[in-house]
Amino acid sequence: MRLYQTGALLTGAHSELIPRAGVLVDGPRIIAAGPVDSLPADHVIPPDVVDLGDLTVMPGLVDAHVHLGFDGGPGPVARMKAETDSEQLILMLRSARELLSAGVTTARDLGARSFLDVAVRTAIASGMADGPRLVTAARPLTPTGGHCWFMGGECDSPDELRRMVRLHHKMGADFVKVMSTGGFMTEGAPPWSAQFSPAELDAVVTEAHRLGQRVAAHAHGRPGIAQAVAARVDTIEHCSFAGPDRKYGSDFDPAVVDEIAAAGIYVCPTMNVHALTMRDRFGDALDKVIMGLYSGGAQIIAGTDAGIDNCPHGAYVSGLEALAMVGLPAVEILDAATLRAARALGVDDRTGTLEPGKDADLIAVRGDPRSDLSVLHHVELVVARGAEHRPARHRVQAGALAAPAGPGPR
Ligand SMILES: [Zn+2]
Repeated sequence: MRLYQTGALLTGAHSELIPRAGVLVDGPRIIAAGPVDSLPADHVIPPDVVDLGDLTVMPGLVDAHVHLGFDGGPGPVARMKAETDSEQLILMLRSARELLSAGVTTARDLGARSFLDVAVRTAIASGMADGPRLVTAARPLTPTGGHCWFMGGECDSPDELRRMVRLHHKMGADFVKVMSTGGFMTEGAPPWSAQFSPAELDAVVTEAHRLGQRVAAHAHGRPGIAQAVAARVDTIEHCSFAGPDRKYGSDFDPAVVDEIAAAGIYVCPTMNVHALTMRDRFGDALDKVIMGLYSGGAQIIAGTDAGIDNCPHGAYVSGLEALAMVGLPAVEILDAATLRAARALGVDDRTGTLEPGKDADLIAVRGDPRSDLSVLHHVELVVARGAEHRPARHRVQAGALAAPAGPGPR
């Protein structure tokens, strides 16, 4: 048993800061969290006390969109294509450690090859490797030659899509990722065009839901977003409303936002270190799209597309700062980065708040993140399912939002 004693405790994004508080942990689980005086004291064996001084303890963070198999350098696709599966696996384990060092205790991998993400998830869950709890989607479903075809998920008809969903389920993947539109990373798969017919998307969602799995749809252009909504996917990734002019937000449609909100679909706008560059290039389009989604009632969740060009896994917090830059209130961002993202991923029974019975996923930072998100850049302690991790100082440091220029959302 271990007691994390601290000067300030935030049990959830919408909670009040509790002074002189503690989190009592037994193995991977939280036994109690609250004011020190309220914690059970009748222990048979007294707990180890970890005195965190005046640090703020809060729930571990969730990155709802990562690619462990992309290295976050200047050419992640070329590297993935050139590497063997063994080399990819080593890279993925490193990416997982980097996420953990950034305070991310849960991550959803939305595109990896050869079911390597499933292997990494299992290694982390069994304690053989360090990393966040992983929710895995394995190979994104895409038409032949479509966006990210090189990950191995090509399929071209409702029957082929159904078969792929069943195969992924059989192989142990947790989530289904479907490329509803093309993307900026793959030649010949334009982001503004839908890649599948409504019948094909419907086959994916119907089969996934039948198997108890959720569906994430990568969608940039309006037609592909609208089709994903009509097919009742569970999360929409990017949701950039990019038009044929290649500009973020140029085909923004509030009527589609209304449909997203009415359907209760979560939106992961994949804001990251590139947000400042994108704002320079696209003016207030980021603000228009993301605040349009937010004020229209869409449920925004935090995810960074970590691993894509010049977007390292350790740069998670820059994505939260980008959401603040476009106008989202800090408390909403913290919710998007914890409980709401956990709900979208279907793991809110385990994480997202510090409550008895949930896993001990927590971080300690110096300061109050509700008034200053930048305090999250320096995580002093990460506890993931009860296992302590002292963050390594990785390549990304505070103020990393102004990272080297990159081409924007993938
Ligand atoms: Zn992605």
